[in-house]
Amino acid sequence: MEDDNSRPIKRLKLNDNPEWYTSAILTDEYSKEVPRVRVYLSELDNKRLISNVMQELSKMLPLERMNLHHLKRVRQQNILLCQVNDLNGQSLSRYLESVGLSHNVVNLLCKNVREYDVPALPSLLRWQYELAQTYWPCKFHPDKYMESLHNGSIFNEKERNFHSKIMHLLEGITNELEHSKPCGICIDPRTKGVVALASSGALISPVMHCPMMLVDFVARTQDGGAWRQEVSHEFQNVNEDIYNDIKVNSVISGIPKRVLELIRTDERFKDIKVGAELPRGKIKCDASEQNTAQNVDNLEKYGPYLCTGYDLYLSQEPCLMCAMALVHSRARRVFFEKCSNNGALVTRLKLHAVRELNHHYEVFQCKKIDQTNHLIYS
Ligand SMILES: [Zn+2]
Repeated sequence: MEDDNSRPIKRLKLNDNPEWYTSAILTDEYSKEVPRVRVYLSELDNKRLISNVMQELSKMLPLERMNLHHLKRVRQQNILLCQVNDLNGQSLSRYLESVGLSHNVVNLLCKNVREYDVPALPSLLRWQYELAQTYWPCKFHPDKYMESLHNGSIFNEKERNFHSKIMHLLEGITNELEHSKPCGICIDPRTKGVVALASSGALISPVMHCPMMLVDFVARTQDGGAWRQEVSHEFQNVNEDIYNDIKVNSVISGIPKRVLELIRTDERFKDIKVGAELPRGKIKCDASEQNTAQNVDNLEKYGPYLCTGYDLYLSQEPCLMCAMALVHSRARRVFFEKCSNNGALVTRLKLHAVRELNHHYEVFQCKKIDQTNHLIYS
């Protein structure tokens, strides 16, 4: 098929075959090696003696009491006794007697003692477990969901293609309509529809960063929006014809006119759905009860409320102000393409790792890959 050269908008180079590779930005407890702690090991010269001392040891000084329940007690002829820090200045033999071990067992255990480093915490992912095992035998309870986030199997092919399609749209809007300004798209993952689409308004006001604008445009779909006057030019003189094939019960007031026209008229984007579910009324939200799993259910149950249950795709990693705004607006997942110097999701900090916050979203980075499957940038 021939290119339509009459199109006024510059076309993307489609032979680039753009695809994006999506990977989860996990918190440090999942992305770093498990730390180690110093313990005393006792080596018995006769393996048969192990069962003699183990009964008493596991009763009087269980690993659970030392927060080392994730470890096994014995490796070959070595027995894990206790953490070096537990002694509080006492000798090892005195400490072992103070916890109730018999004199004979203490003598046996203290014959050949050395210090050694073992994993201090349970392994959360298999790669951490395999590494921890090289130091000391460990127990491991795999978490299928976290494992799938780590290895990328969380998304099936259909979902990966959808991410690519949205990143493709984001790239088109950024390059063709917004002069490379940061852009963002909010998606309802239930319908795969575009709820809102915004670019940076930093030229209007220094706080109107792209994610702030996006949250504001989502609010427009719920009869809100703090910057209606400032952005009114984006939503004026809309040609009603382009709304004709849009579902009656959805609302498109979060999408600026020129973006809507591009999506509706450009062959590349014509299968992208637009529109948000209409608000069902004001919902009282108890923030302390929120978590990611509940968010989708809440969207289903109560209808749209801020960004509850919604996924946000951003061309750039958000700054701390914007990342917090996405926490307050209860976004479900945040996908971003390029890292920012002041980014708050991986570059400067991982805001989603701050436990004290009352809402946590999942974070993913979408990196562009070329035809040879190499990342175009990191
Ligand atoms: Zn920002």
